[in-house]
Amino acid sequence: MIWYPYAQMKTMKAPYKVVDAQGVYLYTEDGHKLIDSVSSWWCVIHGYCQPDITAAMQEQMQRFSHVMLGGLTHDAVERLSAKLADWLPGDLDYCFYSDSGSVAVEVALKMALQYYVNRGETQRTKVLALTHAYHGDTFKAMEVGDDEDYHFILEAYGPKTRVINIPTEIPALEEAFARHHAELNCFIVEPLLQGAGGMRMYDISFLQRARELCDEYGVLLVFDEVATGFGRTGHRFVADVVLPDILVLGKALTGGHIGHAVTVAGKKVYSGFYSDSPTHALMHGPTFMGNAVACAAAYQSIRLFEEGNYLEKIKRIESIMKREMHGFTDPRIREIRVMGGCLCVEVTEPGVLAGFQEFAYERGVFNRPFLCCLYAMVPYIITEDELVKICDTMKAWFRR
Ligand SMILES: *Cc1c(COP(=O)(O)O)cnc(C)c1O
Repeated sequence: MIWYPYAQMKTMKAPYKVVDAQGVYLYTEDGHKLIDSVSSWWCVIHGYCQPDITAAMQEQMQRFSHVMLGGLTHDAVERLSAKLADWLPGDLDYCFYSDSGSVAVEVALKMALQYYVNRGETQRTKVLALTHAYHGDTFKAMEVGDDEDYHFILEAYGPKTRVINIPTEIPALEEAFARHHAELNCFIVEPLLQGAGGMRMYDISFLQRARELCDEYGVLLVFDEVATGFGRTGHRFVADVVLPDILVLGKALTGGHIGHAVTVAGKKVYSGFYSDSPTHALMHGPTFMGNAVACAAAYQSIRLFEEGNYLEKIKRIESIMKREMHGFTDPRIREIRVMGGCLCVEVTEPGVLAGFQEFAYERGVFNRPFLCCLYAMVPYIITEDELVKICDTMKAWFRR
């Protein structure tokens, strides 16, 4: 028996059974061919079964698929780490691997806390985060998040005491720093685009001000780019525009071909652990960190991203989505937003979207709305016709 995610097992409808997946398409057991408009939770950026990634994984598997990083190392992890150090902005050069985005967020939060503990600043136990934030489903990630639909369970613990959630408004940011700066170890954000909290988009000026305040008060800035990384916002990384102290990548890291994530620290953070004292070491080590097959996939995925002029592709996707949705209105639509490779049609209440998944399925599109969000996060290899079909399906729902 499979226990499915985010679902009441008693009432959930049967999932579609996939028998094949190629490029942007999912093929189901009952003979449907579906454009995957959400890239399997946003990760399959080059499409399914990308031949170069698949070959790189197979080649690595012929040698070995896994060895631990405790006391051992290997070419695949060394090559990926050198590539990331070279490719990521600034001095984000120190790569700590883990098996999922949630764990990579846990690592970032542990790093931020211990960075100050190592300096004897043990009063810095609090984290600043955003309202509607989503950083994963593990416990500390849930705590810094602010997503009632997933995390109301945390209310059993009573009010949060170690996390302050603020809206993406500069006055709220300034006030939070003025009041809490002495107790903060970090400010964690999904930069520019808050995903699972409702596909909320905000301005870069907020992050620029956050960078200034973090510098002024000695607070670490953490970008959770698990969702926004690899071009989703139209920037390669938002970290290219505003440099964080710690960067978290996941989802599309391997082109969505196998689970893996990385917490990348800048020089300042790394130096805070580098000493003669064993207690200054980072005490963390997921069993599958630096998995060789995942590292081979990630390296190849980055090569494709570099060679394939992806930022141009994403610009094209953005302009087609804007063109297709331009001027479309309905009383049940609150707002239509487009940023990079993300389209969100926000409706007035979740009931408006009930039945959309089946409606889209009958028209050859796989989609999975949540909360008030009807959204698309397409694979970047999508053609114009396929993209138009997704937009047409969304519009047809409101015109039926
Ligand atoms: C999906 C997501 C995570 C969690 O990643 P998992 O691999 O599902 O654990 C964390 N942060 C953000 C912003 C995400 O979108």
